[in-house]
Amino acid sequence: MIQFYNTISGKKDEFVTVEAGKVKMYACGPTVYNFFHVGNARCFVVFDMLRRYLEYRGYEVTFVQNFTDIDDKVIKRANEEGVTYDVIAARYIDEYFKDAKGLGVKPATVHPLATDNIEQILDIVRSLVDKGHAYAVDGDVYFRTHTCRGYGKLSGQPIEDLESGARIDINDKKENPLDFALWKAAKPGEPAWESPWGMGRPGWHIECSAMNIRYLGESIDIHCGGQDLIFPHHENEIAQSECCTGKPFARYWLHNGYINIDNRKMSKSLGNFFTVREIAEKYGYLPIRHFILSAHYRSPINFSKEIIEQSAAALERIFNCADSVDFFLKNSPEEALRDGEDALVARFEASRAKMVEAMDDDFNTADGIAALYDLVRDLNSAVNGANPASSAAVKAGKAIFDELTALFGFVKESGGDDAFIAEIEEAIAARTAAKKAKNYAEADRIRAELLSRGVVLEDTAQGTKYKINK
Ligand SMILES: [Zn+2]
Repeated sequence: MIQFYNTISGKKDEFVTVEAGKVKMYACGPTVYNFFHVGNARCFVVFDMLRRYLEYRGYEVTFVQNFTDIDDKVIKRANEEGVTYDVIAARYIDEYFKDAKGLGVKPATVHPLATDNIEQILDIVRSLVDKGHAYAVDGDVYFRTHTCRGYGKLSGQPIEDLESGARIDINDKKENPLDFALWKAAKPGEPAWESPWGMGRPGWHIECSAMNIRYLGESIDIHCGGQDLIFPHHENEIAQSECCTGKPFARYWLHNGYINIDNRKMSKSLGNFFTVREIAEKYGYLPIRHFILSAHYRSPINFSKEIIEQSAAALERIFNCADSVDFFLKNSPEEALRDGEDALVARFEASRAKMVEAMDDDFNTADGIAALYDLVRDLNSAVNGANPASSAAVKAGKAIFDELTALFGFVKESGGDDAFIAEIEEAIAARTAAKKAKNYAEADRIRAELLSRGVVLEDTAQGTKYKINK
């Protein structure tokens, strides 16, 4: 049984989809006015992993993640640069895909843009006005919060508490401080679209309701995002969607925790606001992915130089294991399972079972990855040392290793330099020949030359292994 902690119920709920075998999943995507930072990355990596895991468990997943391409920040940046909003959006959508690819985040099934859904947005706003859930004032349209039964159910706050906590603006055109904008009248010089209430642009919350309904339908399985989106963004998405369709909106609400930087909240004023691009240039992308997935998605996590270096070293253990196993299989005779090796194969399989058990229980990637490291340890001792296992046993372990590393996205990017690798292999063959001919001076010369190019050799029972240092 798969279960998730569901923000709306406040407990772990068994995962049962609307349609058997299919998952409809939505995550709130980035506002595209800049490179994304490590806090945004957590959300992208965590929910990419959730999607991968559900696919691994046999579900057909339709995953929608939007781009907010129109909002105050996009407009401000466009004005600063003297270009139109869509130039800024297109640039940072490109940059998003570069960073996402590096992080091993697969493209969603659909990445819709807010501005490609203006018609769908207007349909919902119109329907909410018709039903009395929304009202127009001077070209703006607001959602009438107190008409929504159950408003506050996601954040677990009764509407009276929310009302007393809401900021009251004297110049507000709203009937109630909790009401929020569905449509905003155009200000001079801003991009605007035609509507029944005059030229304007959509508010932020409404775009997600529109894209959910358009691409996934009126009732979806999983809605996810960062914890900071619970109120008001997700609360408002529920209100708009359910008041419009009359149907329950999303069954499971999953929210990831915050990232602190050096144990302090990330903020521009503290100067600890790192973009993923900056971190990746120093450490590579995959250590960021590993760092994020090594914690439970709901726990707050702390980012520091030491932690990212630890993640890089931990990944290296996985990559070294892959290299050792490949080398072993390439250089060992084909051999069937030996007597007594059933226990070893059972241990490999137990790692996989442990991973599934952890991930089924509220998507515990921390314990899931720990199970992968158990497998790495067992595989290393199967191929290294004086009495290596049979090739059949190692192959059984490798199949599980490949399955789990692919699932977590911990696969080393190929060096891509085939010519260099061919050169190394040639040099190793020449060195082996030299050693055989007892020409040790020549063998040492070849080793030293390779070392000067960053290639480290290691002689093993199966032959000479090499490692390329970066
Ligand atoms: Zn959203």
